[in-house]
Amino acid sequence: MKPFIDPDEIWDYINNTKADKKRVREVIQASLNKKRLSLEETAVLLNATDPELIEEIKEGARQLKEKVYGERIVLFAPLYVGDLCTNNCQYCGFRSTNKDVKRITLSSDDLINETLALIDQGHKRLILVYGEHPKYSAEFIAETVRIVYSVKHDKGEIRRVNINAAPFDIPGFRTVKDAGIGTFQIFQETYHEPTYAKVHLGGVKRNYEWRLTALDRAQEAGIDDVGIGALFGLYDWRFEVMGLVRHVNHFEAVYNVGPHTISFPRIQNALSLNIDRDHLVTDEEFVRLVAILRLAVPYTGMILTAREPAHTRDQVLRFGVSQIDGGTNLELGGYSKGKKEGDQDLSMEQFQINDTRSLNEIMDELIRTGYIPSFCTACYRLGRTGEHFMEFSVPGFIKRFCSPNALLTLAEYLEDYAPAETKEAGYKLIDQKINELAKTNKVESLKEKLSQVRTGKRDLYF
Ligand code: SAM
Ligand code: SF4
Repeated sequence: MKPFIDPDEIWDYINNTKADKKRVREVIQASLNKKRLSLEETAVLLNATDPELIEEIKEGARQLKEKVYGERIVLFAPLYVGDLCTNNCQYCGFRSTNKDVKRITLSSDDLINETLALIDQGHKRLILVYGEHPKYSAEFIAETVRIVYSVKHDKGEIRRVNINAAPFDIPGFRTVKDAGIGTFQIFQETYHEPTYAKVHLGGVKRNYEWRLTALDRAQEAGIDDVGIGALFGLYDWRFEVMGLVRHVNHFEAVYNVGPHTISFPRIQNALSLNIDRDHLVTDEEFVRLVAILRLAVPYTGMILTAREPAHTRDQVLRFGVSQIDGGTNLELGGYSKGKKEGDQDLSMEQFQINDTRSLNEIMDELIRTGYIPSFCTACYRLGRTGEHFMEFSVPGFIKRFCSPNALLTLAEYLEDYAPAETKEAGYKLIDQKINELAKTNKVESLKEKLSQVRTGKRDLYF
């Protein structure tokens, strides 16, 4: 395959694209008209440094989110299965040369206990995370997925399992697909090859191209639900945004479908970390890059994790994020230990997180600020792949499907897991949203389904 990242091309756009007022406004408008931006248009937004224009970009992203996606935020949790790793990624606590980290792989029983603890928080969607190691073969990963799906407790269960793991060959991707995974997520970390070589000092992951083409192999294996990402802080953030957009248009050109999600983690502290900090991204730059990505690729889901502190998450949420994690605990076996929030032990964790709120605290906050927290998995269950793409591209889809489904999964949470005050606030929100949906033909059957949830039925969706 021809390499689709050309650093000279990217730098040429960054260095030679003008960002005058008129052009910036045209580009924002193009995105609001639901156009995926070109590299040149993305560079226009990246080069807008006038504070007034930056505000307009943020406002554009806010409007796009509101107009296209409404107020729903999907919740999930990461579940670390094992931290054995043969790679030597300089930014990661699990790197092979880190002798201070405890190496743990969850047994089937451990995995069941972790899943039970997450189900008992109210979770329905997980992402399983693994180091890269011969032990974590495609068969091993497929088996862990099957185990997680098999766990049930009271009225709870996990309905969608996503994966963040090392890239496979095509047969390997087929094996994990057959276990019923949702999204397969792989971050390129940095699209800048010399920087990639500098921070990946050992193991298979040193091979930039094997990683860059990983999700092409996933597509060949029939996994069209893929997530891309860059680890911000390794290289110039503007280059990484361009790399992500280039990766998106590669998928569109070759498979006629873009990625399902984009992630934009910033490097956090980890055990015995000693990395070059020349490219760390400031909070102000972070907000800009999220807003620009939202406008550049208006149809993908955008994931913001607990790496970021609560105040940053609350701020950035407005600019187009569609999924966040809640009640996150990165420690291997940490959920079932019932550790207090904020009590991290970096010798068993990949990196430090900064939002240690419980799932309920996050649910409560979302409800009180008018967002609709959602655990919906309907598209995946009905074989409607690309849930965010459906929301974006099918007129009326959100009103007819996403909003009612979000409310049904919220009602399940309120019935089964929420304390009294959250339950009261949650049902108030549901009543308000039903009024707003009153003009759609779904409202009567939504009311009917909601009353079934109250009397104990579960897993109802449109
Ligand atoms: N081992 C697999 C791999 O490297 O693809 C699974 C991914 S790793 C467990 C999940 C992601 O965490 C990495 O792709 C990387 O972007 C991110 N990550 C690693 N170290 C980090 C750090 N110190 N701070 C923030 N994110 C980090
Ligand atoms: Fe291993 Fe992934 Fe960490 Fe690299 S980022 S050291 S591959 S766990």
